[in-house]
Amino acid sequence: MLIRKAAVIGAGTMGCGIATHLANAGVPCLLLDIVPDGEGERSRIASDAIAGALKSRPASFMDPSSAALLTAGNIEDDLGALEDCDWIIEAVTENLQVKRDIYSRIASHRRPGSIVSSNTSGISLGLLVEGFDEDFRSSFLVTHFFNPPRYMYLLELVRGPDTSEEVFSAVRDFAEVRLGKGVVECKDTPNFIANRIGVLCMGASCVYQEETGLSIEEIDAITGPVIGRPKTATFKLHDLVGIDVALMVMKNVYDLVPDDESRELFKAPAFLQRMVDEGRLGRKSGGGFYRKEGKDILVLDLESFEYREAREVSFPSLESAREAKGLPAKIQALVSGDDPASVYVWKLLSETMLYSARRVPEICDDLVSVDRALRWGFNWELGPFELWDALGVRATVERLEEEGREVPALVEALLSGGKDRFYSVAGEGADRRRSVFVPGGGTLETIEDRAGIILLDNVRMRGEPLESNPSASVLDIGEGVLCVEFHSKMNTISGATLELVRRGVDAAEQGGYAGLVIGNQAPNFSVGANIKELASAALEKDWKTIEGMIRGFHATALKLRYSSIPVVCAVQGMALGGGCEIPLACDAIQAAAETYIGLVELGVGLIPAGGGTREMACRAAEAVPPGYPVDSFGFLMRYFENIAMAKTSGSAAEARQLGYLRPVDGISMNRDRALCDARTRVLAIAAEGYRPPCPRHSVKVAGGPGIAELQILLSQYSGGGFISEYDEFLAGRFAYALCGGNIDAEFPVSEQYLLDLECEVFLGLLGEQKTLDRISHTLKTGKPLRN
Ligand code: NAD
Repeated sequence: MLIRKAAVIGAGTMGCGIATHLANAGVPCLLLDIVPDGEGERSRIASDAIAGALKSRPASFMDPSSAALLTAGNIEDDLGALEDCDWIIEAVTENLQVKRDIYSRIASHRRPGSIVSSNTSGISLGLLVEGFDEDFRSSFLVTHFFNPPRYMYLLELVRGPDTSEEVFSAVRDFAEVRLGKGVVECKDTPNFIANRIGVLCMGASCVYQEETGLSIEEIDAITGPVIGRPKTATFKLHDLVGIDVALMVMKNVYDLVPDDESRELFKAPAFLQRMVDEGRLGRKSGGGFYRKEGKDILVLDLESFEYREAREVSFPSLESAREAKGLPAKIQALVSGDDPASVYVWKLLSETMLYSARRVPEICDDLVSVDRALRWGFNWELGPFELWDALGVRATVERLEEEGREVPALVEALLSGGKDRFYSVAGEGADRRRSVFVPGGGTLETIEDRAGIILLDNVRMRGEPLESNPSASVLDIGEGVLCVEFHSKMNTISGATLELVRRGVDAAEQGGYAGLVIGNQAPNFSVGANIKELASAALEKDWKTIEGMIRGFHATALKLRYSSIPVVCAVQGMALGGGCEIPLACDAIQAAAETYIGLVELGVGLIPAGGGTREMACRAAEAVPPGYPVDSFGFLMRYFENIAMAKTSGSAAEARQLGYLRPVDGISMNRDRALCDARTRVLAIAAEGYRPPCPRHSVKVAGGPGIAELQILLSQYSGGGFISEYDEFLAGRFAYALCGGNIDAEFPVSEQYLLDLECEVFLGLLGEQKTLDRISHTLKTGKPLRN
């Protein structure tokens, strides 16, 4: 079943977000809403929604030009166009009758066999399609996207008894590959998996606040990254979602689960209702649990209901958690204290674990789906069953029994079967597999690798790396391809990382491998060179060491480019500075759609000197094929601006426009697939008969005249107050290196000449106090300093 064209009905928050994401995936899509009362354009709601999406932050579009794929319409005039649509997604108001009414209208216009789905958060699929004909029911499913659809990885799918296998698998495969989603199949139960458990957790967080009297900032400090949850923790998440929305969602679940033993936790506490009554709705109303005042962020005091300054949060259990190494140890430290923080976190986590264990097999039959739903939908690092394992099932059960709490049947079945973990690893070498406890059966089931996805965790589990040091490893990822994985803190690049990259190339060349992938599966590919190492050498005026680092980078970049095997770099998240120069040096890049790439060195008072300045000078020179009567200086100017302003792409699509991705580079919509796609690409290049690029002996640079032109541009920027005096100085030095120094325009130089020049400028800048100030500021705050 091909999905070539789609329609979304309902152009509100979700409908518009889904349509926009379909456009991100290159799918033409119709967006329909009702005709508003009064005069004016009849498709105004949908067209305003698209205009709003173009302005939204974080951006809904990966590339604004894909808005051209969207057509705004209304349900009075445009339902006829549904006949051409392969997939019709309903995202109207959460009301059974409204949804059923629109299905009747869809039914009389759709082409038989076309797919229809609902984005409902909780209405039963059975009720939605009751009474509709066979073709409609077999083509219908629930596709529950999370907000915002572009950024949230989870997509929950629910099929009814009549949904055809063909329809279900077509949507699942399309969602995984084209839309880049992590799909979890759920049963047709209220609020499916992620929201059933996640919203329980939101409700419980409020109820336990009332029970313990902890402040908002205290709860956020103990329920965020320290327990493997996002920085938005508890109440910042409420502010983000909207207090009114949170309240409504809780109320919806409360109404839908009359038999739920934890139902009272979904009952919103009085303070949430009071906040809604007083219009404190969160970020959208300018204040909720937190309010920004000037530069300060104030917090709501639940006793006085006034905003006040946030207080420092300190508890002994929190301190020991902060010191503990690794997430399981941190959580363990936090729940085993006897202070109020410990009491709160234990209440919250134990309830989450118990509730989840009681929901299987009600909400789904397997534990992996529950864990994935919470990891992908709420960005938890550990799903509920992974949490059971992290805290130890036996130890947790003992504590629960001491407290007189009932142990769920699922957990008892696990223990009585002689097992004490939900997940385990079995088998030897290449046959090692993770397996998971099967509810009901009491046996273990192997967790198969998802098709099209290589998980480096599994690769590491199945064999020793060929080479390894604390910063990186060389792994065999199968099919004759090696992978260099970075694993330093934030994947910063040091001499040791670079050495492993070179050894990876050697190993691939000498071991008869088809090629090499450079990639990892951390949230960010790499935040750049290790500037801490650099700063300490600069403070010691140890220029030799610094030059050694730069030469190491150059040797690596050249080796990547001229090795006899193809090298493809898989990137995702941030790929900054040195973390951008490595991919730029490879034969091709395979970027996850969410890639934020850029040469940002000027922000820390330096220029790209890991081969990045040379690469952009060469790319500009090579942008126009020989013999065309077109000047390539425009390209150089564009690259100069990107780097002088330390621009990073907001997506892989934008990275193409900035020139960091070339036409040969690929984009994987699904971040988990990028590494496997990179391996496929290595194999394709190898199969064509790989030929390394020719050495760049005569790169035509812009020289002195180019520098002069770029200087004019800079003085306009500084005249307009866009850049500081030191920015102008830095960009001037960068212009010098990028243009090949003060020589004649079009003078042919070698690649090595350009590398020497970037090294010279870089070393000079490290002698500048303002550069050292920028570096130490970034090391301290993680942010650039504009001095
Ligand atoms: P919304 O209120 O922002 O948008 C609903 C849109 O539907 C409005 O533009 C409204 O004019 C339109 N509409 C109403 N009746 C219509 C009809 N008969 N024909 C065409 N358009 C009609 O709501 P939303 O938050 O986008 O939610 C839409 C659906 O997605 C709901 O089922 C909701 O439960 C679900 N959902 C919401 C979220 C979320 O975070 N907001 C997340 C997942 C799922």
